[in-house]
Amino acid sequence: MGFLDGKKALISGVASNRSIAFGVAQCLHREGAELAFTYQTDKLKPRVEKIAADLNSSICIPLDVSDDQNITNAFAELKQNWETFDIMIHSIAFAPMEELKGSFVESVTREGFKMAHEISSYSFASMAREAKPMLSDNASLLTMTYLGSVKSVPNYNVMGPAKASLESTVRFLAADLGPQGIRVNAISAGPIKTLAAAGVSGFRGLLKHVASKTSIRRNVTIEDVGNTAAFLSSDLAAGITGETIYVDGGYRNLGMTFDVE
Ligand code: NAP
Repeated sequence: MGFLDGKKALISGVASNRSIAFGVAQCLHREGAELAFTYQTDKLKPRVEKIAADLNSSICIPLDVSDDQNITNAFAELKQNWETFDIMIHSIAFAPMEELKGSFVESVTREGFKMAHEISSYSFASMAREAKPMLSDNASLLTMTYLGSVKSVPNYNVMGPAKASLESTVRFLAADLGPQGIRVNAISAGPIKTLAAAGVSGFRGLLKHVASKTSIRRNVTIEDVGNTAAFLSSDLAAGITGETIYVDGGYRNLGMTFDVE
């Protein structure tokens, strides 16, 4: 028996078995949740279908969050499978690679800024709006963010403001949907080697730095994030909403690190 028995969860953002969303899906499945998945392009469809099948799911729905009609269509398709559902995992982000390296002020463009905010932040609000009529009492919405929202991090550049916008969106959605019993939270994960992360210049160095400095002296894993996501998606977290929960091995709380003689 798991603490998510009887819950239905929609998972977006599985691109591979390294994706944070894959770690979340595994933990939700382990705790008894029934899963449905989205995929962005036909190219990814077979891979996501295979991952879904391994987790006893046959529901795989196309969803490209750059287009509102596409989002509406995805939830209409979900409704053909489920009348209601309980958990929505948003694990989607994008910014042009050219803007994820070097000087922020030199690399940022109007188009890149807009795209990063639309795909990585607006999409969460837009998915919440489409999900709302189908959400059960005690439903949970969860998204993924990063420290670059509140501190500058080399090369993260335009994704920083986009994640700050996402975290603010979490607070507004939580206040808005709370009276209906719907909770909304974010997990701020430490760096993890995934396809999206590989787009940030110098990411290998970032991983090495964090592993050597963070309190637990290792990088977090998709299982670490998945376990926290399972808890936040469950009724065990009934009192938590509008929060950004750090799963970063303590890195955020370090004021300074240096070798003490
Ligand atoms: P990932 O495996 O590459 O997942 C990113 C997902 O976003 C992919 O499935 C990608 O689909 C999807 N996506 C991008 N544009 C989309 C669009 N227009 N419509 C629908 N889906 C779209 O990388 P990840 O690291 O697990 O990222 C998941 C989330 O965690 C992101 O929000 C990321 O910022 C956040 N995060 C990551 C880290 C880290 O270090 N990895 C740390 C903190 C937070 P395609 O592959 O088809 O483009």
